[in-house]
Amino acid sequence: MATASAARVHDKLDRPLRVLRLSVTDDCNFRCTYCMPKELFGEGYPFLPPAAMLNFEEIGQVVRAAVPLGVTRIKITGGEPLLRPGVHRLIEQIASIDGIEDIGLITNGYHLPRSASYLWKAGLRRITISLDSIDPHTFTRIADRAHGLEAVLEGIDVSIATGFDPIKANMVVQRGVNDGQVLDMARFARERGIELRFIEYMDVGRRHDFDGSLVVANREIRDQLDRTFGIVPLTRDSGDEVAETYEYRDGGGRVGFISSMSEPFCGSCTRLRISADGKAYRCLFSGIGLDLRAILRDQRMTGEERFSALSRELRMFWAGREDRYSELRGNGRPQNGTRREERIEMFRMGG
Ligand code: SAM
Ligand code: SF4
Ligand code: SF4
Repeated sequence: MATASAARVHDKLDRPLRVLRLSVTDDCNFRCTYCMPKELFGEGYPFLPPAAMLNFEEIGQVVRAAVPLGVTRIKITGGEPLLRPGVHRLIEQIASIDGIEDIGLITNGYHLPRSASYLWKAGLRRITISLDSIDPHTFTRIADRAHGLEAVLEGIDVSIATGFDPIKANMVVQRGVNDGQVLDMARFARERGIELRFIEYMDVGRRHDFDGSLVVANREIRDQLDRTFGIVPLTRDSGDEVAETYEYRDGGGRVGFISSMSEPFCGSCTRLRISADGKAYRCLFSGIGLDLRAILRDQRMTGEERFSALSRELRMFWAGREDRYSELRGNGRPQNGTRREERIEMFRMGG
């Protein structure tokens, strides 16, 4: 087998492969209006049956095959990852793979009160919790889950008490929905030592009715925070960090901005997404996935052949990558060939 450094892969725009975002389920217990609106994802929606999803051993094989190509970081996501039974065992397994330096998990937080200690014992140290509002009415309007906020806030408290560090909170800001709550959210996060990250509402997926007038450019929020608290930019820790991070001047911690709409960062996008049913996607706006499950379940191969086939296919797939949808959309130029109706939903491919 080639050595890891000799085998690293870059795409057509010279971007290395560094991060795998693993979706461990396409199901969710929330129905956020911008992701899985209840009108479209109601009772009886055909989520993946368990047999269609990669099992933990298969996910481990994918990670092992991706490490020699350059992957060092894993993010566990979904759908809602804490709905996948035993996800802490997957984390433990991935943490033991040579070459993996960092594992994170992004969750809506609802099940953290009961899961946080298992995740910690499994070796997870960093966690991101999606939180669009601390106002019960607004929260319910967005997530469409009565009493969801109480559980999420408890999940945050439990995560702090458990010792997770860093704890980040993602807030998708929508004009007229929760943009009036930016300062309340900032105060909430500052008081708890949480890094709040503002995410621009995006036109991902094909089902939800994207309305561009709801997008709030992050520079507006940055200015608001600067006027109120005073913030200074920090230099990025690594070239593939998607958030622009600032520090409060008064020592109140950090705050981040993920500005996919107004300041796209495709040039530093080093993420490959793997859906729960084992398809690899090179971009959030992609319609074409590489079917890894077919390789994983091909009984004619030996373990070694399967490892080689996975590595080879992933390498070719990444080497052929030229996706940069957000930059092209930002330039007002034609999009990268994926028509809206061909796109894969974000919760399916691992947002
Ligand atoms: N269920 C988990 C959660 O909500 O954290 C993990 C999966 S969710 C798809 C990952 C992230 O994608 C969340 O922070 C969510 O807010 C974000 N997201 C989903 N749809 C989005 C959209 N249309 N625009 C911006 N962010 C979106
Ligand atoms: Fe579920 Fe996360 Fe999508 Fe909300 S953003 S519907 S919590 S997957
Ligand atoms: Fe990466 Fe695609 Fe988003 Fe650009 S549009 S940052 S390539 S996922």
